[in-house]
Amino acid sequence: MQGVKQYNKKFELTQEFAKNLDTQDLLASYRKKFFIPRHGGKDVIYLTGNSLGLQPKNTHQAIKTELDDWANMGVEGHFQGKNPWMHYHKFLNPGLTHILGANENEVVAMNRLTVNLHLMFTSFYKPTKKRYKVLMESGAFPSDMYVLETQAKHHQLDYEDVLIEVKPRDDEHHHRTEDIIALIELHKEDLAMVFLPGVQYYTGQVFDIEKITQKAHEVGAIAGFDLAHAAGNIELKLHDWQVDWASWCSYKYLNSGPGNVSGVFIHEKHVKNKEMPRLAGWWGQLESERFKMNKGFNPEPGAAGWQLSNAPIFGMAVHKVSLDIFSQIKMDTLVNKRDMLTSYLDFVLTYCAQNNPKLNFQIITPKSRAAQLSILTGHEGKDLYKYLNKNGVISDWREPNVIRMAPVPLYNSFEDIWRLAQILLKF
Ligand SMILES: *Cc1c(COP(=O)(O)O)cnc(C)c1O
Repeated sequence: MQGVKQYNKKFELTQEFAKNLDTQDLLASYRKKFFIPRHGGKDVIYLTGNSLGLQPKNTHQAIKTELDDWANMGVEGHFQGKNPWMHYHKFLNPGLTHILGANENEVVAMNRLTVNLHLMFTSFYKPTKKRYKVLMESGAFPSDMYVLETQAKHHQLDYEDVLIEVKPRDDEHHHRTEDIIALIELHKEDLAMVFLPGVQYYTGQVFDIEKITQKAHEVGAIAGFDLAHAAGNIELKLHDWQVDWASWCSYKYLNSGPGNVSGVFIHEKHVKNKEMPRLAGWWGQLESERFKMNKGFNPEPGAAGWQLSNAPIFGMAVHKVSLDIFSQIKMDTLVNKRDMLTSYLDFVLTYCAQNNPKLNFQIITPKSRAAQLSILTGHEGKDLYKYLNKNGVISDWREPNVIRMAPVPLYNSFEDIWRLAQILLKF
């Protein structure tokens, strides 16, 4: 990414300038590895990779390989397939460890995100009379809120009493790290777990996972993170940061298709603890004993020991295609391009808001950000969103009044952002 790094940060709103950035982009060739939806004979300006990442072109072939093995071998595919299904979850670990900054025995792809959150609560949320509270951010993603609400109920606790909510200050939209730290300190006696996102879905704020984890541990609480918007978007060092557990989904920045398989990270310091409470299934049983069909759960000594069922191969195959793409790229290369793209988008949005009086929006994403910018719209909001959509810009609308835009370094170009400006100026 040396090319892009050396650029003068002073942006220009010309096609030539944008194209020049694209020419020097070391990830430019990756765009061709994805299907870009079309609109009016042109590629759409796809800014919703934070919601559903685009399809890698190798996906068809990866599914076909598994379909063929199934057709040609039936059950023998478990051991004799090209990618023996029996071991399929292991094939995803190199990609996952690369993206998450984890060791092999700390990760496993399985289930869906919300299911995994419940599984992680089962293992890590062990409320006592004294220590039972959970810290979340205000405006958390609904599924995460319902997880805590029903987990509290499951433990016969009152949700409102369990929940500690960190809120933005007046006239701010983000959650300050210092306020999170102060709240953890305030609750040092009764805090059981911190449950925060890596990247907040509504505002695009990046949380300081390392600092928050450190503080949680200092007071004797568990640090768990929902990385739905962080995996494949920010550089993560979950092992080094001592994060206790994390889970994510694969269909946002990880481009693995609608509703596809999730995964969990469980820190090495916990994975060998067989006594940890968990909801178990046969696929978590020690591999050498799994097919002995005996009584007595004896888990794999790793995150793999949290698996319940045998892996859904077609979804896993699709996920692997995407992880293999990530494996070719250094995370800091991705991050460098991401920051340039987001900065260019910031520049373009600011320019357009200043030069088109019909635009009354304001960017609410704080400086601590990744690929996404969230625009708090004025009365023009819904009309603007619809106008963009009609003109081939795929962004998304989040109630009550936010448009989210996420240029993704793997497949978005600087010219995409320049084209967006042309459309915004004509609103
Ligand atoms: C996208 C997202 C989810 C979605 O959960 P699924 O179980 O995959 O449907 C949950 N939490 C957060 C924070 C998200 O961003």
